[in-house]
Amino acid sequence: MKTLIVGGQIVTATDTYVADILIEGERVALIGRDLASTVQADRTVDATGKYVLPGGIDVHTHLELASWGTVSADDFFTGHVAAAFGGTTCHIDFANQARGHSLREALDAWHARAEGKAVIDYGFHVSITDPRPEVLEEMAQLPTWGVTSVKLFLAYKGVYQLSDGDFFRVCRRAAELGLLPIVHAENGDVIDILVREALARGETAPIWHAHTRPPQAEAEATARAIWLAEMAGAPVYIVHLTQRDALAAVANARARGRPVYAETCVQYLFFTAEELARPDFEGAKWVCSPPFRTREDCEALWQGLARGELAVVSTDHCPFNFAGQKDLGRDRFDHIPNGVPAIEDRLIMLYHAGVHEGRLSLHRFVELTSTAPAKLFGLYPRKGTVAVGSDADVVIWNPSARHVRSARTHHMNVDYNLWEGWEVVGRPEQVFSRGRLIVDGDRFLGTPGSGQYLQRTAPTLL
Ligand SMILES: [Zn+2]
Repeated sequence: MKTLIVGGQIVTATDTYVADILIEGERVALIGRDLASTVQADRTVDATGKYVLPGGIDVHTHLELASWGTVSADDFFTGHVAAAFGGTTCHIDFANQARGHSLREALDAWHARAEGKAVIDYGFHVSITDPRPEVLEEMAQLPTWGVTSVKLFLAYKGVYQLSDGDFFRVCRRAAELGLLPIVHAENGDVIDILVREALARGETAPIWHAHTRPPQAEAEATARAIWLAEMAGAPVYIVHLTQRDALAAVANARARGRPVYAETCVQYLFFTAEELARPDFEGAKWVCSPPFRTREDCEALWQGLARGELAVVSTDHCPFNFAGQKDLGRDRFDHIPNGVPAIEDRLIMLYHAGVHEGRLSLHRFVELTSTAPAKLFGLYPRKGTVAVGSDADVVIWNPSARHVRSARTHHMNVDYNLWEGWEVVGRPEQVFSRGRLIVDGDRFLGTPGSGQYLQRTAPTLL
């Protein structure tokens, strides 16, 4: 199958130019002017006046995650359809080690979830929650299994949280093996105390989720993770950074020349803890960890993106329905399933508020959503750019289309949208996954089972 995309403006992290693209099979075969005069294609797509972008890569998602006594509402089919409609053609999910079990068992369990359902390509991080000596030994196998990043938690006491000593040990081992440690940085011990005390006082409302996870808990754990990783000789990547003091810790480490990276999630650029105070329990829709912060923090994150202190914009997509799932915490905030839907909104909202409203350049938009994630997580140059030889994960983006975000029209399998009723400018119109047209306007053309597991290589440290 040969597809010719003609007349579009190709945008990468560094270049913008008008050219035609020939996709042959799964790869980009040629880029040049007037290819139609020399090439016979099976299908020609006119992209005049549109951008041609590398497909989005979301390195932080939780599809079909069993937690909080329920299961996140998108599986590897519905989540992939939603991702595709949002211009994302690749994601990395988390295979969580259960205590007493091996890393391989975690990977097997997550491979089974994706089997036969995947529409876009995917990889896995492995979350290490029980670093026994044999698990540290087993880490040596991860690269052969296509896993080059390990997730470590400084929060969720009694569930996922590692002690400082265990954190240090795993980072040192990761450094030996060329793996990138990625960290949930909140002080779980302090949060645990604050939650118990709030409950004992009879505080049950969603806003207490934010009050019991103070910004200092994130700032402290972020700085601690950076210093512990440095002592271990490891690079480190902070997930879902939400606030200015944590950002300052990252910026400070980068100014010292350390291989320290951080992502924020698109929703933290828009919302504050005030959303959690919405009446009638509606605040539960905004319950996720770390919590939403202040308007000043949103502004600091935008500046962190523009200045290069933040490397990636992801989502931490972990959707739970308001009716029937968020409900589980109606009587106490610590039982509200933590997580929000965003896999479909990420590029659209970042483009709208970032590029359209003038906060980010188009190149920076591509870098944050595709190129930098591909490099840091061992997918570049197969993914993360539009280039000859790269996978034909290509998005044709209409920069002027206006539309309204809504749960009535989104494809995520969840009954609310954080940006309900927002009118935005810019959206994907056609989406190719390894050369297959999977989204064409409002039509989904993909096939369950066509998404592939990605054997990731060593991170390219930026
Ligand atoms: Zn997460």
